[in-house]
Amino acid sequence: MTKRIAIFGSTGSIGTQALQVIAANADKFTAEVLTAHTNDELLIKQALQFNPNIVVIADESKYVKVKEALASTSIKVFAGEKALDEVAAMNCYDLMLAAIVGYAGLRPTLQALENGKPVALANKETLVVAGDIVMQKALEKKVPLIPVDSEHSAIFQCLVGEGRNKIEKVILTASGGPFLGKKPNFLVNVKRDHALQHPNWSMGAKISVDSATLMNKGLEMIEAKWLFNLQPDQIQVLVHPQSIIHSLVQFEDGSMKAQMGLPDMKLPIQYALAFPHRIPNDFPRYDFKKPATLTFEDPDMKTFRNLSLAINALYKGGNMPCILNAANEIAVFAFLRNRIGFLDMTDVVERTMDKIQFIANPTLEDYYETDGEARNFAASLIQM
Ligand code: NAD
Ligand code: MG
Repeated sequence: MTKRIAIFGSTGSIGTQALQVIAANADKFTAEVLTAHTNDELLIKQALQFNPNIVVIADESKYVKVKEALASTSIKVFAGEKALDEVAAMNCYDLMLAAIVGYAGLRPTLQALENGKPVALANKETLVVAGDIVMQKALEKKVPLIPVDSEHSAIFQCLVGEGRNKIEKVILTASGGPFLGKKPNFLVNVKRDHALQHPNWSMGAKISVDSATLMNKGLEMIEAKWLFNLQPDQIQVLVHPQSIIHSLVQFEDGSMKAQMGLPDMKLPIQYALAFPHRIPNDFPRYDFKKPATLTFEDPDMKTFRNLSLAINALYKGGNMPCILNAANEIAVFAFLRNRIGFLDMTDVVERTMDKIQFIANPTLEDYYETDGEARNFAASLIQM
């Protein structure tokens, strides 16, 4: 029996790499559902290659084109954002790979959990926005939520076999991004194309910008809090530019476990799809002699202020991470369109966090409203 995978966000960086893993392991996995936002051409190509049961194109204006292109197949075609939730609620798949970027991934992921389906979670924003509700839902439905983010996959792998042994702290490693060591006088002039060039990973545009500002590591701290049930002061960030140690766990006896390997997202993706098994592959292996040195340093939070804003949100809790995330999505979107500068992104996030009403114990509805308000306010700052 193959495991039927529903890839939400199949046309993205994670989605396309997941399809490579599926293609290489056709005896173990099939692509049952593929979804895209606007990239109809790639979605059609993927559908013709993988012959899924269902495809969803979120952008309804592309429906006719996708439908016509797949007319000679038995693939069902749905369109619109609501269709994402409807398909997530169906019974035709065994595991969802949540690989949509941003807040848009929250509802389908919640729907999959509600539906009792295990989720391999790449979409960190889902946990940043509503981590309490998402984790509660997974617990209530007794379904596993398996991290795909490389740091969280590393921690998850370190915890296998540890049972109830307590974590003293986790250390999230960070590459430092393309601007490691740079100061504000340099960053003020940085443009989109420069920010999109990550030294060690090739990723989607949003997470590449987040890696350059260190917001990504802040989002990951919040993600780690929820996934591993940690207090904020149990989560440390360490810059490790070679990206070989993907993260560490320190236990109560002081012993530390790390998960290591060459930076390649196909590995955490494959691990999450196959969990609890490991499956062989021919990915390149790390050679300890090159690079000879692994180095570590503290993050420069004075320069990369997004990380300190995210840490504030982590400690504050409530809807503050949701506010941070919404403002950041708007700011990154504006930066990618050359509407604001690199350092302006931080100002947008900070001013939105100051402005939007804090709620200590938000409901899901509160999160939806907070997201909308924070987006509107952040957008109003940019139009000025
Ligand atoms: P990407 O931009 O390359 O792809 C995003 C996917 O989501 C695409 O398939 C797109 O069609 C879909 N999508 C975007 N907006 C949508 C919307 N409004 N409605 C429906 N679908 C929508 O992004 P990515 O780099 O693959 O990242 C996906 C997620 O995985 C992000 O949350 C990111 O933080 C996380 N992640 C990515 C990497 C990586 O190496 N790329 C590593 C760790 C975590
Ligand atoms: Mg990561």
